[in-house]
Amino acid sequence: MTDEKKKKIVKTIKINVDKCNGCRACELICSAFHAEPKYSSNNPARARIRVISEPLTDIYVPVYAGDYTPAECAGRDKYTIDGKEYDECAFCRASCPSRDEFKEPDSGLPLKCDMCEDEEEPLCVKVCLADALVLEEREEEVEEEEEQEELEIGLESLTKKHGVQKVLDAIARMSKQG
Ligand code: SF4
Ligand code: SF4
Repeated sequence: MTDEKKKKIVKTIKINVDKCNGCRACELICSAFHAEPKYSSNNPARARIRVISEPLTDIYVPVYAGDYTPAECAGRDKYTIDGKEYDECAFCRASCPSRDEFKEPDSGLPLKCDMCEDEEEPLCVKVCLADALVLEEREEEVEEEEEQEELEIGLESLTKKHGVQKVLDAIARMSKQG
């Protein structure tokens, strides 16, 4: 086990629920940015952000897709806000086996917010005219292991879905193209 550390810019998106008006522009731009090819379609089911809404009481809560988990929680949370009871797991960020949220609809692969890869400003922040989403950046020391862990989670879900051989064949094809 290694405990080497390196500097990393950590990006955080601060969510101001009071400012969100439920326009869902964030869902649309996220799904369009991640379409193949880019911007060729916009299906909010492919977005890495979902806006949980209760139009009657004017409550809109943007929730970002977080980590994939292979096992669902043993316990569940139920929230009541302004008298409205929300579904179990409504505000959870995980892509998990107990629900369809934050899964690519065709392949079932987990979706996770990637901060729009190398874009200077995340696109959901850019399109949010209500300023409900605000980007903050800070420098932090992180374990090298954390990056390795993310890679392994992605590979694990791909191999579960397609089998090891197909994943290896795809990598071999990609390295020839590269
Ligand atoms: S773009 Fe902004 S205001 Fe519109 S739903 Fe998303 S977070 Fe809310
Ligand atoms: S930061 Fe990018 S990837 Fe993450 S939810 Fe916003 S648009 Fe989607």
